[in-house]
Amino acid sequence: MPERLRVCALYPDLMNIYADRGNLLMLQRRCAWRGIGFALTASHLGEALDPDGADLYYIGGGQDRDQRLCARDLAEVKRDAIHAAADRGAVVLAVCGGYQLLGHSYQLGSEPLPGVGLVDVTTVRAEGPRLIGNIAIEVELAPGRRRVLAGFENHGGRTQLGPAAQPLGRVLAGHGNDGRTGHEGVRRGRVIGTYMHGPLLPKNAWFADWLIATATGLPEPLGALDDELEAAAHAQARQAAGI
Ligand code: GLN
Repeated sequence: MPERLRVCALYPDLMNIYADRGNLLMLQRRCAWRGIGFALTASHLGEALDPDGADLYYIGGGQDRDQRLCARDLAEVKRDAIHAAADRGAVVLAVCGGYQLLGHSYQLGSEPLPGVGLVDVTTVRAEGPRLIGNIAIEVELAPGRRRVLAGFENHGGRTQLGPAAQPLGRVLAGHGNDGRTGHEGVRRGRVIGTYMHGPLLPKNAWFADWLIATATGLPEPLGALDDELEAAAHAQARQAAGI
């Protein structure tokens, strides 16, 4: 296995609220500290996406306004490539606004935004209050190994899982996909969508390592790091959510 992680960020200038860029920095630092190579590329509006060019494709959160631009581009310009990347086993991580675009559609009032159809979810922008606050969920990425992700959510959209979709996790505190079902996010193998900002990875170093190992094929556990600050960030995020 090559000791190198290649990350491609989709629309990094538009889909990047709540400093989701920190997620990319977290991946870069944890690779660098272990001597694992790291390369970051970007794919902007109108640019073709190379389906073989990265081990991990990343889309951050975004405002409705920016999502309009990205939704069309993702569906019209990048659809085939992102499907091909997922089919060959690349990791896809999408946060909040990016997560909404992974599904079939995002209905914004009378305006339907197309999704890229990588996962069986649909999102509707509800009339009700935005779902905002600290959140913690329980995930089981490997059988029998339950762990907690903690972060922050702020979304107007409500996401429903279709029959073919599995949630990423179970809500322990907070709202999750729709504030009712107790489901948070979606997971289809290595394709993951979540409403969790935080930014997600600096508050959940274990998950950053899972992504690195899964995307590169390096065996887990990856080499240990001095994670005193990361552990404190995780504990604080859990505490903020009341877990
Ligand atoms: N604009 C979307 C919503 O409000 C996503 C927001 C976000 O990425 N935080 O539902």
